[in-house]
Amino acid sequence: MSETHPPAHERLSCVYGRIRLAAARAGRAADAVTLVAVSKTFAASAIEPFLAAGHEDFGENRVQEALRKWPPLRESYARARLHLVGALQSNKAREAVATFDAIHSLDRDSLAEALAAECARQGRAPLLFVQVNTGAEPQKSGVAVSRTEAFVRRCRETLGLNVQGLMCLPPETHAPGPHFALLRQLARDCGLELLSMGMSGDFETAVQIGATHVRIGSSLFGSRAAAGDPAVSLE
Ligand SMILES: *Cc1c(COP(=O)(O)O)cnc(C)c1O
Repeated sequence: MSETHPPAHERLSCVYGRIRLAAARAGRAADAVTLVAVSKTFAASAIEPFLAAGHEDFGENRVQEALRKWPPLRESYARARLHLVGALQSNKAREAVATFDAIHSLDRDSLAEALAAECARQGRAPLLFVQVNTGAEPQKSGVAVSRTEAFVRRCRETLGLNVQGLMCLPPETHAPGPHFALLRQLARDCGLELLSMGMSGDFETAVQIGATHVRIGSSLFGSRAAAGDPAVSLE
């Protein structure tokens, strides 16, 4: 597509404008924030206008869905970077390492081991974020706050994984700010630079607290329920 699609372009400018304002309020540079456009459940035809508008970072939450949608898109837009933002089963580690440039959901030892084996086998080193269960929610994945430092050290030093950041999904019923601040403190304690935090409903707060990666779906692509999402759940 040679022409940029006006709605995609406008939605991107609007979200980037909000990121710039939030960054400015915190005295941060807006270009320190990567906007990951979460295109899960949306068809390639809905994603393409964003690629045509020059956007490069996209997020998916399922390996199989990404494998269906992205190979043809990447043929036309070789600069696109793909982020896995959803839970990853260890038996999909091979496809995940082959497909994604970044994985935001490293949350347990068995997955760390599977990813390390695949990174060595494929000679690839996707950027990794350790997901932390900052709200200690039993139904949510993520490493416990108290185990985060030891887990990060094991991933980096013992397994040689390219862990550079932390990620969290605050409990839906809590104010997100304290969770983002806790994640920032944990990252400092671990010596990590990157923070994947903030979604459509709370990304300005996340940017003010130091997010380097915001994961934004509905503010860019519209409501997933309207797109026929069978599972709007974040897990
Ligand atoms: C779906 C999803 C998002 C984006 O959510 P929106 O509220 O639509 O912006 C971000 N992070 C994760 C892990 C997700 O699954």
